Amino acid sequence: MSKRISILGSTGSIGVNALKVASHLKDDLEIVYLSANRNAELLIQQAEEFKPEAVCIVEEASFPNVQNALVGSDIEILLGREGLLELASRNNVDILLNGLVGAPGMEPTLIAIEAGINVALSNKESLVMAGDIIQHAMDKSGAKLFPVDSEHSAIWQCLVGENIDDVRRLILTGSGGPFRTRDINSFDTITVEEALNHPNWDMGRKITIDSATMMNKGLEVIEAYWLFGFTPDRINIVVHPQSIIHSMIELRDGAIKAQMGVPDMKVPIQYALTYPRHLEAPWEQLDFLKCGDLTFEEPDFQRFPCIKLAFDSLEKLGTSGAALNLSNDYSVYRFLNGEIKFTDIPRINESSIAKHDWTEHPTLEDLKELDSWIKNHVESY
Ligand code: MG
Repeated sequence: MSKRISILGSTGSIGVNALKVASHLKDDLEIVYLSANRNAELLIQQAEEFKPEAVCIVEEASFPNVQNALVGSDIEILLGREGLLELASRNNVDILLNGLVGAPGMEPTLIAIEAGINVALSNKESLVMAGDIIQHAMDKSGAKLFPVDSEHSAIWQCLVGENIDDVRRLILTGSGGPFRTRDINSFDTITVEEALNHPNWDMGRKITIDSATMMNKGLEVIEAYWLFGFTPDRINIVVHPQSIIHSMIELRDGAIKAQMGVPDMKVPIQYALTYPRHLEAPWEQLDFLKCGDLTFEEPDFQRFPCIKLAFDSLEKLGTSGAALNLSNDYSVYRFLNGEIKFTDIPRINESSIAKHDWTEHPTLEDLKELDSWIKNHVESY
């Protein structure tokens, strides 16, 4: 029987790849809901191809286009942030894939979990911002999170069949981004174009900058803490520039399990959607005879202070992760707009963690207040 799938953020990088997965697994996956922020043209194409029951367009200006294009079809059209949250709560699906970018993706995760829907989670901010709240909601509804990020998917796959007490530590791999070997004294002059040029992964703009600062890896450490329940001293990072090993676990007896493959987001997306199965797929497979040497390095906290900020925020917990994440969202946005330097990103983030009004068990309301405080803080830098 095919699984009913809801995709939030269907025109973004994760959403587009998920629909590629769905198009080769037409008998296994049925696309029921799609939502896009403002790319009406692509949403319309997707709606015509996959014939979902409903779509949502968040940006109001794009609504008339979608409406005109889909008039006469029996596809329901929802509008705005309200429509998105409504879609997130519809629990007549098996899995909701959250491919939304940034902090606005957090609330839909929570709403879906509360509605008892298993969430294939690509949106990092959900757990980084509100790990505590989401954990609580999961305990209550019984809904589960299926990681989509390549690293967490790798760990998830490595953990299959293992007793969690037998796992000594998690080892997250990271490519090190485009500035792994660049002269550290020239970091001040890094341009947006340089930062957007990632060696291995083809991703959205925000996450590509996060990989250049390695904030991405830091956020993944926080996410791993919430997903797998490992304390920060049992989560390590290894820089692995080839991105062939997607992450590993080390067991008590010294055995290490690694999950490997070509760096292609469709693999972890498909696993999250077809779990616990690994179904046939048409894409390129890893060829050990062609992939060259696999190398490993220690992460450089001086070069990439954002990683350290993430570990620090896990020591403090409470609102620290949310402050770090929000601050990073706004500072990356300012960097992309050419308003601040690359090296300002960690500086601003550090100051946001230090100066915000910390609380231990924030509510959603607290997080919204924090959001506007941080926004101001970052904009006034
Ligand atoms: Mg990742």
